Order: sequence, then C-alpha cells, then structure tokens
Amino acid sequence: MYTTLRPEAPTAVDGMSRRRFLIGAAGFTVGSLFADRSVLPVSADPVTTARATEPADTLAHELQAAPVLPSSHFIRTGPSNRQRVAITVDDFSSFPHIDALDYLEGLLALGKEYRTHFTLFPIGQELDRQYDPRNHPKRARRARSLWRAAITDGHVIGNHTWSHDEQIATRHRARIRRELYDQHQSLTRLLGQPYTEHLFRPPGGSGGFPNDDPTSTNEIQYKHLMSVVKDLGYWSTMWSTDSNDAHGNMVIPGDTVAEEDQRFLHKIFHGVNGNTYEKVHNGSIILVHPNTLSLNGMEKLITGLHDRGYRCVTVPRLFAK
Ligand SMILES: [Zn+2]
Repeated sequence: MYTTLRPEAPTAVDGMSRRRFLIGAAGFTVGSLFADRSVLPVSADPVTTARATEPADTLAHELQAAPVLPSSHFIRTGPSNRQRVAITVDDFSSFPHIDALDYLEGLLALGKEYRTHFTLFPIGQELDRQYDPRNHPKRARRARSLWRAAITDGHVIGNHTWSHDEQIATRHRARIRRELYDQHQSLTRLLGQPYTEHLFRPPGGSGGFPNDDPTSTNEIQYKHLMSVVKDLGYWSTMWSTDSNDAHGNMVIPGDTVAEEDQRFLHKIFHGVNGNTYEKVHNGSIILVHPNTLSLNGMEKLITGLHDRGYRCVTVPRLFAK
C-alpha cells in the first residue's frame, strides 16, 4: 500500500527547462542542509548553491532516510495503529494582532520544550514579505534564521502555493505548477538554500477531498489537481481536524482569543454537540492557523494531547515505522 518516497524527475513543463524546473521544485536534496547542522552555508544565489552542494552521496543519504508515504499521494490521516498525531500550521500571514515570525518563534520554543514537531505550510507570498532584504534587512535576517532553525529542529515545511488561490483545483495545469514552483522559489530565497518539499496543502482545501461520484465537479477537480501534484512529486496533505471550520468552531466576531482557543480545544478533545467527527484519534492531522489558535492555545493543545498519550510528530513521521 505504501511506497518509498523518491521524488521522480518531473517532465519538462510550460516553457521552463527541465533543469530549471528541477532546481525550482520538489526533487532537490536537503541532505546538504543537514550535513553539518552547526554550519549552515548562506548564499545570495540559491541556484549556484544548489549545484555546488549536491554531491552524489548526500542524495543517496537522503533517499536512504526518506520517509514512507501513501502510494496514492493523498493524505488525510495517518495510520490508526499508533498513538501519533500531526499538528500542521498554515499560511503564516501577519495580522495587526499577530506577527507570523513571532508565532513561528513561539512554535519553535514550544517544540523544544515539549519535544514536539510541527508541519508548516507557509504561503510563498508571505515568505516574500518576511524575506525582503532590500527594504527590511533586519526582518529578513530574522526570517531566514527562524525558518532555517525550523528545519534543523526537525520540523517539516510544505508547499501551500505562492498566492493562496482557493480556486486552484479549477486552474489549468500550467498555472497550478507555477503556483507550486513560485512558492518553492520563495522558500529557497528565504533559506538561502534549496529544501525538498514533499507535502502540498491545497489552499482552502480546493480540490482536496475525493468523493464517490466520478461525475461530480468535486471529484473531477480533485483528480485534476492530484494528477499535477503527483507529477511534481508532492503528496496532497489534507486534515481531519480544523481549527476554524463550520463544525462548531467558526471564528465568532467579538470573541476573545482565549474563547476561540477554548472552542477549538473542546472540539478536539470532546467533539462538538455529540459529533465526534473531528475529535482527536490515532493518526489525526490537525489544522491550525496562527490567527485561529494562539500560542497559549497551542501549548494547551500539546499538553492535552500528551496527557492522553499522543505523540505530536510531523506528517511524514506519522507513517514511519
Ligand atoms: Zn491556507
């Protein structure tokens, strides 16, 4: 049922040469980034770095340690035979009351304190806002340092498109590829080094869920999106519990942050009004946004999960032996 993850070389696409595409999208080794965790080379030219730091042995090393993910390239929950769950955090947009980099810094601190690993799906456009060395050099340095620390601390970064187009499943193949490619380029610029993204999260869940009716628009869009995602070597990664969807946890204007946190925590630990659909279970993939669960709420989520015997791991680790 499962296959070893080996990013296939994508075919030439849409005016991009195959070589350029390989540099830009999934298919790059992260082995060099992990080769020496104490010294992370920084380059202003990620493309040059990629070529210079990809000796054959690091690629072999990465493949050896590659995670095992479903052959369907579609993930909604992990296996049910282990008490593991994955907390995923999306977007990393900044708001007047919450700065994305402050939130990321807080996540990294919680990760260390509670030996927890997150799966992070930043929007490419937001990474560009965070990493703008010409206009905001200090913030750019901080962004690079935090996102690199996320990787070296063992968290996983995935692709959430460049523009967060919530109609992505309705777009032409070329445009979908471009969205994924551009997000990866933004991440590469920010890190100063390429990083292999294996996971893709559809914005707003567009085309995210299959159903049993092959003639339905939903199913057609799902299949269309999946064919592009698979082609590029990504795994479409949905969720089983959402912090702000319509199942009893919509953001209600006027509510305090603590009240919103509480509503989400109640849903995940107790279900909502007898509906246990989104209640935590083995293999749960939990969706969080920085503006829908505060860092305090996140700490309560982690400790609550630990109290119930769950380990909080990255999405690929859900599938590890
Ligand atoms: Zn999103």
